[in-house]
Amino acid sequence: EDDRVIEDMEKLQNCFAGFRQKYRLIKRIGEGTFSTVYKAEDLLYDSYDNSWDLDRETEKWTPPPLKSFPSQSSATLDYQSQSQRRRRPKYVAIKKIYVTSSPSRILNELELLHDLRGCQSVCPLITAFRWTDQVVAILPYFRHSDFREYFRNMTVPDIAIYMRSLFTALASVHSRNILHRDIKPTNFLYDPASRRGVLVDFGLAEREGYDCKPCVCHDDPATRKSKLRPLINGEAKKGYPREDTRPSRRANRAGTRGFRAPEVLFKCTEQTTKIDIWSAGVILLTILSRRFPFFNSADDVEAMIEIATIFGRRRMQVAALLHGCMLETTIPTIGTSGFSFEGIILWSTSRNEQKDQLADDEKLAVDFLNRCMEMDPSRRISAEEALEHEFLRLGLD
Ligand code: ADP
Ligand code: MG
Repeated sequence: EDDRVIEDMEKLQNCFAGFRQKYRLIKRIGEGTFSTVYKAEDLLYDSYDNSWDLDRETEKWTPPPLKSFPSQSSATLDYQSQSQRRRRPKYVAIKKIYVTSSPSRILNELELLHDLRGCQSVCPLITAFRWTDQVVAILPYFRHSDFREYFRNMTVPDIAIYMRSLFTALASVHSRNILHRDIKPTNFLYDPASRRGVLVDFGLAEREGYDCKPCVCHDDPATRKSKLRPLINGEAKKGYPREDTRPSRRANRAGTRGFRAPEVLFKCTEQTTKIDIWSAGVILLTILSRRFPFFNSADDVEAMIEIATIFGRRRMQVAALLHGCMLETTIPTIGTSGFSFEGIILWSTSRNEQKDQLADDEKLAVDFLNRCMEMDPSRRISAEEALEHEFLRLGLD
């Protein structure tokens, strides 16, 4: 394993001319479905001053000052100031995108990252390189801890600060009409010590409305009903229609299992930024219930069963109808009205659902959770509204 990592690092350094003069690879920090990420030292940082800086107060990344390649005289100046202050190494994250990724997918990620530069709590792109089919993206290195190491020990105020940071990122991404599509703990890098976080991984992100066809969920209820009637009463046949003339539904379902919003599972063809809010809600539910992963489905049908078990058959059927889907089930664990989040959290944290009560700040968190995991995306809270919610206001200093 270690040998393979060293071999891969060797290959990366040989792939780009002059790599060793620019970066010193330190270690592998991530290996995902689409990329391998390394930590490296930016060796030219001082001479080019090309790194982004995070302003601790505003949580905004500021781009480097626009400076041309150091001229003779300024190089001397740089040298002097450098010798005066002790040089502090600048670290970067080098994301090596697998060559099997489609060129349009890679371009999409880099383009969106470029559009999001200067966004609060979003990790900016410093630069990117390509050699034949190999693309690497260079990002400022952000120190963070593994979610599994801290989520069980978070107090409610800690959770509020974490969620406020996440929703700050979502608000700025959504204000640019971009859906992240893959909100989950490994894509939100958080440092519990400094209580700061940044959103990464725009590999599945897309512009709102880019890949859309009208879905009945955007119709007013009366129109939707009239469109659905033939589906419910027509043909009068039970079971699966033999000659189904309805067009097959194709919808973007990219994302990570367990974090997909109901409208993604129901193949809504007009998905909005609200899908990210649902996923952020799943993170909150995970932290409050101290269970990771909270949802553990292998596929979309299992995911529907998990959500239906919590929300109950009735609400799940309403959510399905919203996108023109009929949902029937005889699974005995799916009750008519499901469970409350309050009950789930009490039970999963070994408290007594009958006798115990949530603390007041936990109740606020649950109220917020209900707003995030609202099944109807049009009624679900937006990131901007969320920042005004009493629970996220607990996260203000
Ligand atoms: P993938 O598309 O393969 O999931 P990500 O962009 O999510 O790639 O990066 C994978 C992992 O690499 C992250 O979960 C994180 O641990 C690490 N990582 C990514 N970007 C940074 C960064 N800027 N600073 C520190 N670590 C990072
Ligand atoms: Mg990722």
